[in-house]
Amino acid sequence: MAPQTLAQSKRKKRQGIRTMTKTAHGYNYDYFVIGAGSGGVRSSRIAASLGAKVGIAEYKDIGGTCVNVGCVPKKIMAYAADYHGHFEDAKGYGWDVTAPRRLNWKKFITRKNDEIKRLNGIYDGLLESGRHLLRWSRRATRPTHH
Ligand SMILES: Cc1cc2nc3c(=O)[nH]c(=O)nc-3n(C[C@H](O)[C@H](O)[C@H](O)COP(=O)(O)OP(=O)(O)OC[C@H]3O[C@@H](n4cnc5c(N)ncnc54)[C@H](O)[C@@H]3O)c2cc1C
Repeated sequence: MAPQTLAQSKRKKRQGIRTMTKTAHGYNYDYFVIGAGSGGVRSSRIAASLGAKVGIAEYKDIGGTCVNVGCVPKKIMAYAADYHGHFEDAKGYGWDVTAPRRLNWKKFITRKNDEIKRLNGIYDGLLESGRHLLRWSRRATRPTHH
């Protein structure tokens, strides 16, 4: 392979392309995971903990569907909506609930997004702490059309 110019090498580094030592089988990784969702993060950590050289690519937000657009935001929204009924019930138990009961949507969305960011950070930390584990913030593609 022709040696790289400094500019090429810098560009590759910027793009996250690293020169790597090959595995015993002649590949860059023992195990390469596409997608850092619940399944990808867990399986890559298990493989890395067993000594495999692992790569994981994620082109969107770490944590995948569950954290970013699935279970977590759904539950936050469901819990928030549930309070409305609790305020009504509270009256029956003698609570004086006279304050206007309005959801501040802007505040709610900020809190929801903060919680998701916190979880993204935890997932990030899980991957960072994995030995033999390299993270690629990009979409995995095939070199040829298929
Ligand atoms: C609205 C909603 C609510 C849900 N609620 C629950 C619940 O309460 N409880 C529950 O158990 N489950 C729930 N689920 C299901 C749960 O979210 C999924 O089962 C879980 O996220 C699947 O995890 P996964 O790792 O297989 O895939 P995902 O989390 O979808 O991860 C796949 C990842 O791969 C990435 N990716 C895809 N292609 C590429 C590529 N070429 N290169 C790089 N990255 C790529 C994507 O960006 C994504 O982050 C819910 C789902 C939805 C949509």
